[in-house]
Amino acid sequence: MSARNSAFQSKRFLAQAVTSTTPKIHDQAKPSSYKVVVVGGGSAGLSVASTLAETLGNKSVAVVEPSDVHYYQPLWTFVGSGLKSFDESKMAMSEVMPEKAQWIKDSVASFNPTKNTVVLANGESISYDYLVVAAGIQVNWGKIKNLPETLGKNGVTSNYSAQSVQKTDEFIKAFKGGNALFTMPSTPIKCAGAPQKIMYLAEEQWRKAGIRDQTKINYFTGLGKIFAIDKYANELLKICKARNLNINYFTDLAEIRPDSREAVFNVLAGEAKGTTLTLPYDFLHVTPPMGAPDFIKASPLSNADGWVDIDKETLRHNKFNNIYALGDCSSLPTSKTAAAITAQSAVLKNNLLGDIFGESKEVAKYDGYTSCPLVTGSDKLILAEFSGYSGQPQETFPFDQSKERFSTYFLTKEIIPDIYWRAMIKGTWDGPAKYRKFFGSA
Ligand code: FAD
Repeated sequence: MSARNSAFQSKRFLAQAVTSTTPKIHDQAKPSSYKVVVVGGGSAGLSVASTLAETLGNKSVAVVEPSDVHYYQPLWTFVGSGLKSFDESKMAMSEVMPEKAQWIKDSVASFNPTKNTVVLANGESISYDYLVVAAGIQVNWGKIKNLPETLGKNGVTSNYSAQSVQKTDEFIKAFKGGNALFTMPSTPIKCAGAPQKIMYLAEEQWRKAGIRDQTKINYFTGLGKIFAIDKYANELLKICKARNLNINYFTDLAEIRPDSREAVFNVLAGEAKGTTLTLPYDFLHVTPPMGAPDFIKASPLSNADGWVDIDKETLRHNKFNNIYALGDCSSLPTSKTAAAITAQSAVLKNNLLGDIFGESKEVAKYDGYTSCPLVTGSDKLILAEFSGYSGQPQETFPFDQSKERFSTYFLTKEIIPDIYWRAMIKGTWDGPAKYRKFFGSA
């Protein structure tokens, strides 16, 4: 069997395990006190918990995670356009949970940092010496009027939910021409490129299906730029112009009117500021507003905006020395992506293990590295890599990554998912920094 086939078979096996009821080691009787408690078993939580559990030994690390399924969400752009199957984006949580960690299958309801405890939704208290918060971002579906009840119906969809991502593919294929709208909110979101990637993929499909002439495509963003970093924004604008994709700035989706099939936008700037804009739609891909999770916002851990308030270099909490955070729920002022977490987790683990073992080794510092593979077609991509701190590109390869390429498309679609499952969430992938050095691009 080839390596690729064997990887595919093992993924299929693991995907099937999602429905398995076989008890795992994680289900056994659990203590209520741990060296480290990790809140969240997503991309960030697992990449940290794996290494810590391996280093600190059995039952020293607990991961509080309510979900039965772990998703590799970056694949949802490909799932939404029919280029990957949904099953390839998920694994049973029991299969990805580090073997030496204790999985506490519940949610954290509140934090008590002065007593070194977290309280679970079931009322139980868990105590810790060190806490790592990695609970992700909260998707606020209810903030768009009528979105929760219209999602997945009559052409309204979103790649931002496991429940609707397959509907995106279905609705793109069923589309017969008309008005297609794609939205991006003014709030912080995870993967700021994903709202437009699906537009490029849909446009390509409609062009190939011969219905492009009957189709008007509009992208509405609550922001004033198509992408934060000019080097990539300039290329994206050229693509939009060449492919007749109309970009509308400072417009935030506020309401969906399913009966008349209309989308209502708040205008946030310019002469029309404060007014609304109403457009008919035949296809509507929504990226909902997002924000800090409510249970973090209401806790002493949060900053004024609700994110876990950490030092942007060391990832240590600004008030509580034995607390760290990373990933989408953190206050780190960079673009929220799984790619960013690869660099953040290495820094966090270095600094936290230094605390535990009292080592005097150098404190590691995060430089804001993040990346967004901007898929622009079913065989090409712009691989944006940059620091959210400096606002400058931080590219890995010795070529201009702002140009559309097949090589970076293949890397993103076929190679990075394997790195994710086999290395990143196992704690052994620290991101591409060493390759940047190797290629001399650092
Ligand atoms: P998550 O992976 O979301 O995990 C958070 C975990 O915390 C979840 O398992 C959740 O159940 C758990 N949790 C929540 N509340 C609680 C609680 N109260 N108690 C305990 N646990 C809790 N990134 C890229 O790098 N490249 C891409 O191309 C890319 N594309 C994307 C496309 C889409 C459509 C989407 C949706 C995301 C994309 N991302 C991409 C972003 C990436 O998936 C996220 O940035 C990443 O998953 C964040 O990891 P996290 O661990 O912070 O949050």
